[in-house]
Amino acid sequence: MTDNGQLIAFLGNSEQANFLPRTVFRGSLMMIEKRIPVRRCAGCMEHSDKKELLRLAKNKDGEISFDLSGKNPGRGAYICRNMQCLAKARKKRGFERALKLKGEVPHEIYEKIEREIGTENQFK
Ligand SMILES: [Zn+2]
Repeated sequence: MTDNGQLIAFLGNSEQANFLPRTVFRGSLMMIEKRIPVRRCAGCMEHSDKKELLRLAKNKDGEISFDLSGKNPGRGAYICRNMQCLAKARKKRGFERALKLKGEVPHEIYEKIEREIGTENQFK
């Protein structure tokens, strides 16, 4: 069985296995040794390598931005690079909760994330 096959068998969920960093699943010890920064996806609520996730940021004026650099100051919310998680986050207001928003995440932010995920998937 391939490495990837084992992963999928272990997770029992091939959809998520495609998006989660392999290192995280080689055991918690590995994670501690490598000190991979992990963040929680606002859709599936799973923890993933921060580098694998897309980030939204809320600045001190309460403005939301889609933070492709991952370095914008302020509170961040994270999402896996897939449409399922994005749909979940939208449905259960995962971003609003993560960012402690009173209002809603603007529609165009969702569109930007969709576009980003869309362009990635073209190359798979
Ligand atoms: Zn997710």
